[in-house]
Amino acid sequence: MKIPNQICGCLIAAFACMAAAAQDEATAGIVTVRVTDGIYMLMGLGGNVAVSVGEDGVFIIDDQMPPLSQQVRASIAELTDQPVRIVFNTHWHFDHTGGNPLFREAGSVIMAHDNVRRRMSTAQFSTLMGKARPPSPQAALPVVTFDTEVSLHLNGDTIRAFHVPPAHTDGDTILLFEDSNVVHMGDTYFNGMYPTIDVDAGGSIRGLSRAIDLALERLNSETKVIPGHGPLSDIDGVIRYQVMLNTVADRVQRMIDQGRSLEDIVQARPTIEFDQDWTWGNFSAERWVRLVYDSLVRNPAKPDGG
Ligand SMILES: [Zn+2]
Repeated sequence: MKIPNQICGCLIAAFACMAAAAQDEATAGIVTVRVTDGIYMLMGLGGNVAVSVGEDGVFIIDDQMPPLSQQVRASIAELTDQPVRIVFNTHWHFDHTGGNPLFREAGSVIMAHDNVRRRMSTAQFSTLMGKARPPSPQAALPVVTFDTEVSLHLNGDTIRAFHVPPAHTDGDTILLFEDSNVVHMGDTYFNGMYPTIDVDAGGSIRGLSRAIDLALERLNSETKVIPGHGPLSDIDGVIRYQVMLNTVADRVQRMIDQGRSLEDIVQARPTIEFDQDWTWGNFSAERWVRLVYDSLVRNPAKPDGG
């Protein structure tokens, strides 16, 4: 809520202004995007959060990280006074699971793939981040985990949560709201941004491409697509992303097969026509090429799934 300054002249409006300021602070850093009548996307610094609101309470997918998780909670409170019953983590990364203790303390059940709990329970090292991550506290761990697929029946919808073979990590889940025709892709999909791939956690660019294939089998031209990062998308955006992934992976693989060095491959600029649209922040084209190379060398899954 925003109140223009010019109406803050009288005492009543001044109280309203104070309330508005408090409200803004409570939700600062989070933008709420309406996806359908009962589903919202919350955008902030970390991964995108999906919020399903209805008669069964609140179901959310991912929960950002402190301190933004507080703002996520405040943003949900602006939509409904129902409790958050279930939090589903799309994968183990901190910018998607960092709010788990906050929501669990308030009574939410945390769900995720088996490998999310496994990775959060032990120390992890990320080459990408250049640092180790200690085990998460007990209060952050998912309490309901699954292997291949699980369905939730909430708020008049059937939500199919399916694990995909190692892609961004080895614990990725894509969640499809069948009746609302909305999907949350987790970090298998960065919209308009070169994706990060957690090669240390089993991720691979070929696996990402396979995950996108599996998702595309279930999407149609009307599907609203919530990416792990970036703005709300659709099937055309996912297909553009798939083309970029496959083109870059094929080019880099060809040069690896020719015996060319990493530095030589970087110099060859195999991403050139994509760079203007897909680079972001400090994630340069060079960084993306190095990551693709690392993925193809360390986790060389074949396109056919082998
Ligand atoms: Zn991630």
